[in-house]
Amino acid sequence: MAAPSLIPLNPARGVSDYDLLFDCVHCGLCAEACPTYIVTRCEMDSPRGRIYLMKSLAEGRIEIDDDAARHFDLCLGCRGCETACPSGVHYGRLIEGARLLVEQNHRRSFVDRFKRRAVGAIFPYPHRLRMLLAPLKLVDRFGLRPALAAVLPRMIHDWLDLLPPLEPDLRPLAAKAIIAPRTDASAVVVHRGCVAQVLANSENLNSERLLGAAGYRVVQLEPTSCCGALDLHSGNGSRARDFARANVRALKASGADAIVSAASGCSVAIAEYGDLLKDEPEFAEDARAVSSKVRDLSSLLLDAPARPKREFRCRVTYHDACHLVHGLGVREAPRKLLASIPGVTIVEMTDSDLCCGSAGSYNLTEPAMARDLARRKADNIVAAGADYVVLANPGCEFQIAAELRRRGSKIKVVHLADFLAMASQ
Ligand code: SF4
Ligand code: SF4
Repeated sequence: MAAPSLIPLNPARGVSDYDLLFDCVHCGLCAEACPTYIVTRCEMDSPRGRIYLMKSLAEGRIEIDDDAARHFDLCLGCRGCETACPSGVHYGRLIEGARLLVEQNHRRSFVDRFKRRAVGAIFPYPHRLRMLLAPLKLVDRFGLRPALAAVLPRMIHDWLDLLPPLEPDLRPLAAKAIIAPRTDASAVVVHRGCVAQVLANSENLNSERLLGAAGYRVVQLEPTSCCGALDLHSGNGSRARDFARANVRALKASGADAIVSAASGCSVAIAEYGDLLKDEPEFAEDARAVSSKVRDLSSLLLDAPARPKREFRCRVTYHDACHLVHGLGVREAPRKLLASIPGVTIVEMTDSDLCCGSAGSYNLTEPAMARDLARRKADNIVAAGADYVVLANPGCEFQIAAELRRRGSKIKVVHLADFLAMASQ
């Protein structure tokens, strides 16, 4: 439906995908799929309420104030609403537009600006994150993290609480033991991400090993830039496009037929480069080609004949990472893969596809809502009676593991790639 012609033109209309707002028919069927609405029961924290806010802003009927910014900030960008919506509303694109609008037109508090700038200055750059974490490795080696956390300001304490115990060596690991298959096999590249290559590189390496063992030709990516998702989710579209261009160049040069990431948020970001760079003639075609090659690890492994043969007796519950299930529509393949391991019993948790509160850097910038969602997720995991929670996103892994650690739970949280590698040893 076209925009009504009598609405005064406002700069905001150029930021939000204005016409897309009219796809929403206000039916409200998305509300119970929305984690923030489930927690607050406030209409403006539901997808429909936020779309209404976007439209009001775009039409110049309201200004961005603290309240409006707050309702957008609380959105996790989980896209549960997209899966639930019968009208095909492109909520992900709409909220990214709204976030740009907020960043360009709203002045945040000092603490808020500090948090967001710290995240943006450190996380997309693996070498900076490694340098920052180096002293913490020593602290962990002597078991002093609780003592350190006790004397730090609340915000830093909460951030530390989310970090997994650090491995002694945070240098990038060299990929090895990749079985060299036929040279005519499909070439797959694993995009190693930014935070993931520092804090969860085993997931990248095990993804490569599993793909190699399944008969794919694993090619390396040089260099690996942040996918840009953190910037897109925080309203920094310009730097997100810089990262996207760098990745498009490198991914094209890799010659890969398929692109995989152990972090589902990165997979979705790359799958949307075609849209992000559509107005840049120099990149548009390559970006579309790169986006069309994104696959998820479990679907590729499911297509390959090799499977773990060793018995691995345990009860596993699978957590659906938002971007994998709502962004790429992958729900069954990881479960089928897990069920194919002899001895594994899958026990479904309630609301396996409801966000755990991690959502990129959301648990750093919105700790209260993130914690509430983590508690709900942990309750459902405990009730399922599993020995392992398996998932396909390092951010969810840190968030859920932190909540289970706080409870003293023995349930182990393991990335799908690490779990499959463990089961096939
Ligand atoms: S993206 Fe997630 S949190 Fe945001 S409105 Fe949609 S369902 Fe709610
Ligand atoms: S986003 Fe979709 S499900 Fe939600 S109110 Fe609009 S049309 Fe209905």
